[in-house]
Amino acid sequence: MSHYPMFANLRGRAVLLVGAGQVAERKAAALLQVGAVLRVVAETLNPQFQSWSDSGRIEWLGGVFREDCLNGVFLAVAATDDRDLNQRVFQSAEARGTFCNVVDTTDLCSFIVPAVVDRSPVQIAVSSGGTSPVLARKWRQIIEMLVPLHTGKMAQLAGKWRDRVKEATRNAEERRHFWEKLFDSRFSSLAAQGDMAAAESELAAQLAGYAPHKGEVVLVGAGPGDAGLLTVHALQAIQAADVVFYDALVSDEIMATVRKDAEKISVGKRAGCHHVQQEETNRLLVEHAQAGRRVVRLKGGDPFVFGRGGEEAQVLRQAGIPYRIVPGVTAALGATAYAGIPLTHRDCAQSALFVTGHSKHDGEQPDWRTLALSNQTLVVYMGTLRASVIAEKLVEYGRSADTPVAVISNGTLPNQSVQTGRLQNLPELAEDAPRPALMVIGEVAALRDELKWFGEAA
Ligand code: SAH
Repeated sequence: MSHYPMFANLRGRAVLLVGAGQVAERKAAALLQVGAVLRVVAETLNPQFQSWSDSGRIEWLGGVFREDCLNGVFLAVAATDDRDLNQRVFQSAEARGTFCNVVDTTDLCSFIVPAVVDRSPVQIAVSSGGTSPVLARKWRQIIEMLVPLHTGKMAQLAGKWRDRVKEATRNAEERRHFWEKLFDSRFSSLAAQGDMAAAESELAAQLAGYAPHKGEVVLVGAGPGDAGLLTVHALQAIQAADVVFYDALVSDEIMATVRKDAEKISVGKRAGCHHVQQEETNRLLVEHAQAGRRVVRLKGGDPFVFGRGGEEAQVLRQAGIPYRIVPGVTAALGATAYAGIPLTHRDCAQSALFVTGHSKHDGEQPDWRTLALSNQTLVVYMGTLRASVIAEKLVEYGRSADTPVAVISNGTLPNQSVQTGRLQNLPELAEDAPRPALMVIGEVAALRDELKWFGEAA
C-alpha cells in the first residue's frame, strides 16, 4: 500500500487554497461542503469565488502567496497553472509539516484526493495512488452502481441505535452478527422504499427478539487457485466468517479475500510444515461452531472431491452442528481448462474418470482394467509419486504406451506449468513437475498444442 487511507474531519479547520480558476473552484466547493474554513490566495476572483467572499464563506488573502498564509492551516491545496508558485506552496507546507496537494502533480503531493462514492455518512473512496485518476474514476462509477442509494440512511439509523445494540449483545462478534443479519433482512427493503420509520421499527423488533447466533460450519470449495473461480456463495461465506480453517492448497489470492479481523487457522499438510491431524481439525470445527462462531472450512478445489469434506460433514452431523456445502471448481475441471485440455471430446473421449493416486489403506488395488479402458480420459489426483506404477499398470492392462499425457502443475495460477508427452514417459514428466500436480492420461491431452491459451505457453 503506497498511501495511508484516511478521512479528514475539516469542519471548522483552516484550509489554504492557492488559485481561483476552474479546478480551484471545484476544490473549494468540496472543501466548503465539509465545513472547512477556506482561505484563498488569488489575484482575481471569478463570480463564484466573489459571491463566496461576499457572503463570508471564504477569506480572500489577495494575490500574493507568503509563508504566513499557512499559519494555522491544516491542509494546503495549490491549483494554479504557475509551476513555480505551486512548488513554493508545496515546499513551504512541507517545511511546516502541513499536508499539501498540488493538483495533478503527484510528486508535489503529501496527500492525494480519491474519487468518492458519496452515500453520507457512508463514503467509499477509490484511489490509484496518483497513477491513474481515470482508472480510479472508472471504478468509482462501477461502485456507484453497486451501492444502493439508501445505504446512507441505513447507516444513519445504525448510528442512532449503536449504543443500544452494544448493550443488548455480549461481544463484538455478536454485534456483527446482529448488524449483518439486519442489513440482509426486511430492514433493507423498507429503507430502500424510503420508509425509515418502518425500518426503525423493524430494527427495534429484531433487537427485542435478539438471540445469539447459533454457530455453523460452511465447507467451501476454493477452486484450484485463481480467485476468479470462486463462486458467489463461496465469496459470501468467506467474507461472513468469524474463523477460517484453510489448507495448503488454498492460494494466497483467495486468502486475501478473508476479512482482516477473522481468525485464520492453517490445517494444511504442508503449510508451515506442521500437520494438523484430521481428527484435530474435526474437533476444532465442532468446538468453534459450538461457541456460536461462523466457521468456514476452506478447501482447495471442491470439498467433496478427494477433499475429506464427506468425513468432516459426517462429524458435524453427529455433533448436531448446522452445516452447508459450497461446491468449488475441482482441479480436474479448472487445471485442464486452463491447460487447454478438454476432458471429453466426441472424437476420442466419451467419458472422464477422476481417481486418486493415493488411498487410505495401503495395498488396496484399483480396478486397473477399468482405468485402462480406451476412449476415456483418466485424471489422477495426488498421483505424481506413483506415476511409474500407474503408467506400467495401465499399459499392462491394455492402454497404449503411446497414449498422450499431460502433467499440470499449479493449474490456473500465474505459475501454472504443463508438461506433455506419452504414457511411457509419464514417470519422468511427473518426477520433474512442481506440486500440486495433476496427471491427465488420454488422447485429449494432445489437444493442448492446438488449444493452449493460458500462462507461459500461450
Ligand atoms: N479437493 C481438491 C483435491 C484435493 S487432493 C479438488 O477438488 O481439486 C490434492 C490434489 O489435487 C493434488 O495432489 C493435485 O493432484 C490436485 N490439485 C489441486 N489443486 C491443483 C492445481 N492448482 N493444479 C494441479 N493440481 C491440483
